[in-house]
Amino acid sequence: HHPTLHTNQVGYTRRDYEGRISTLCAGCGHDSISAAIIQACWDLNIEPHRVAKLSGIGCSSKTPDYFLGASHGFNTVHGRMPSVLTGANLANRELLYLGVSGDGDSASIGLGQFANAMRRGVRMAYIVENNGVYGLTKGQFSATADRGSKSKKGVVNSESPVDLVGIALQLGATYVARSFSGDKAQLVPLIKGAMEHGGAAFIDVISPCVTFNNHSGSTKSYDYVRQHNEAVSRIDFMEPGQEITTDYPPGALVEVEQHDGSLLRLRKLHTDYDPTDRYAAMSYMQTHAALGEILTGLLYIDPLA
Ligand code: SF4
Repeated sequence: HHPTLHTNQVGYTRRDYEGRISTLCAGCGHDSISAAIIQACWDLNIEPHRVAKLSGIGCSSKTPDYFLGASHGFNTVHGRMPSVLTGANLANRELLYLGVSGDGDSASIGLGQFANAMRRGVRMAYIVENNGVYGLTKGQFSATADRGSKSKKGVVNSESPVDLVGIALQLGATYVARSFSGDKAQLVPLIKGAMEHGGAAFIDVISPCVTFNNHSGSTKSYDYVRQHNEAVSRIDFMEPGQEITTDYPPGALVEVEQHDGSLLRLRKLHTDYDPTDRYAAMSYMQTHAALGEILTGLLYIDPLA
């Protein structure tokens, strides 16, 4: 490495943690998640060649090309990332496994694969970039789309959504979190925790599709409301190329306007929340779901894992 370039404790430059230039739509939340993965691995001084990144099919599954260019990578078939990762994990116990998937990949065709990877406690950080839509095939509802939401063509979704966090908790995952692609301050520490966890670590990252899960079709139609005590500020965060940085505090409510005008309400966990009780996590989620809120943060960690 060039002596004048800043290196981390294991002798790598920031560039060593990056990948190729993203070909996703400008402003896609998935690019923010790639940036958070780069930040987390850099901060943890993980040598890139110690990571194996695996994905399935979909916009999300293209992203491993955009981070950790010097790591091992395998773009598998649709919904089959967990099986391929499990095999790799059995063959080489030395690597850190990072699975990147989407809601189409993990909640539809790969739901059985997802469920069994969680149930078996496969040692991996499993990130789902969840946008409720099949972006790569131009905007059909995925299995995580809200009931009653409208597609760009005006079709109303009549089916109930799959909650991957609920499934992960129920089936025994030992690290379960939910976050938002626009909240790097929350997401980076969650990814670090997942990378360092010794079992099945799952993070559901809500990551809006600016092209198909978007009511006017414009990259400017998402509104973001930040609520901090009495102060509310609206930020049009989907300007192409705009860096989203938020550090709203624990307990804050973030509202994201969806394609059909409805609000996605994300409630950040309070600092006094105890994440070591699996059943309390499940019931706390249900209580907030009844209020129309989605909790974000570290929902559960097995203190013994
Ligand atoms: Fe991202 Fe949607 Fe574009 Fe896919 S179609 S790259 S999910 S904005």
